[in-house]
Amino acid sequence: MIAPELHPPVRLLMGPGPSDTHPRVLQALAKGTVGHLDPFYLETMNGLQDMLRQVFRTQNPMTMAISGTGSAGMEATVVNLIEPGDAMVVCVNGVFGGRMVDVAERAGAKVTKVEKPWGHVFTPEDLAPALASKPKVVGIVMAETSTGAHQPIEAISKAVHEAGALLLVDAVTALGGVPLEVDAWNIDAIYSGTQKCLSCPPGLSPVSFSPRAMEVVMSRKTKVQSWYLDVSMLANYWGQNRVYHHTGPINMTYGLYEALRLILEEGLENCFARHKKNHEALRAGLAAIGIRYSTQEGHILPQLNAVHIPEGVDDAKVRSTLLTRFGIEIGAGLGAFKGKVWRIGLMGYGSRQANVLLFLSALEQVLA
Ligand code: PLP
Repeated sequence: MIAPELHPPVRLLMGPGPSDTHPRVLQALAKGTVGHLDPFYLETMNGLQDMLRQVFRTQNPMTMAISGTGSAGMEATVVNLIEPGDAMVVCVNGVFGGRMVDVAERAGAKVTKVEKPWGHVFTPEDLAPALASKPKVVGIVMAETSTGAHQPIEAISKAVHEAGALLLVDAVTALGGVPLEVDAWNIDAIYSGTQKCLSCPPGLSPVSFSPRAMEVVMSRKTKVQSWYLDVSMLANYWGQNRVYHHTGPINMTYGLYEALRLILEEGLENCFARHKKNHEALRAGLAAIGIRYSTQEGHILPQLNAVHIPEGVDDAKVRSTLLTRFGIEIGAGLGAFKGKVWRIGLMGYGSRQANVLLFLSALEQVLA
């Protein structure tokens, strides 16, 4: 039996990701596949790396796209910096900090968790006791997708470096939605994902390692636990030599390439301003129907709006009605926020005035 031809339903992806893919990215994905060592592809890799450096705001030579989703970027940054027995501090205020703890423990790190209530962010003072034990690496999530919390990085980075540690940042939901400065904030290792504010489908994880982080990687005593994600080997493919390591995901590279062109054409500052403006419009509309945010005031992400589900409202029924009647997907709460919170994404191409207005009117009808 042959399974039927695919006809995906038309959806408006306003959840925590994936977000809607830009039409120009879809077109780029459909371009002809070439070999992974074809001169054309090597040029495409150069262009992609150059644009990624601009979007990450870094000069780091070791900036590339890992073949895999955001979690592959998380693994890549952790397993390259950590050797068994190394001390790592991980900040946990939601699901993804928790995932980083698991990844670090599997890599053999001795992990110290620093915790804050869900929806809240960390201050340098929160980290002080853990930093006193002189960890090798500190991991933190800049945009916690499970809570909508926007973590300030700069002051934390200063405290981490004063303690002699390396700073590892999760920017899966942050990149392209809010200002992010890899060099100015002295970030040592960072990873993102294509399916949030970059308007691409899931499949690649942009990463960047500072020269200091690369020195740590190159002077390891033990082999990196993962063959696939070993940056010293990936450096031969993504660096000058362009030596085969694994087969690059050619068409996804085209997609990310086009997505980065879109962001740079718009201009990073304009892109952040658009995310902020549409978030403010959504927030005003939600306030008018009595819906409040669940995130610490002053630290709300424009691209991920986590709001309290109003008293007496059937969470699953509202979400499924939005999907079946209006084609709109929003996200449920995870973990501690399960059944209490909705997560409304306005990410990348999805952050548009028309989407805000359509969502607000659909929600009002569903709640009526
Ligand atoms: N980190 C954060 C903050 C995320 O939001 C996600 C995914 O939603 C991940 C990591 C994991 O990325 P992926 O699901 O693409 O593997």
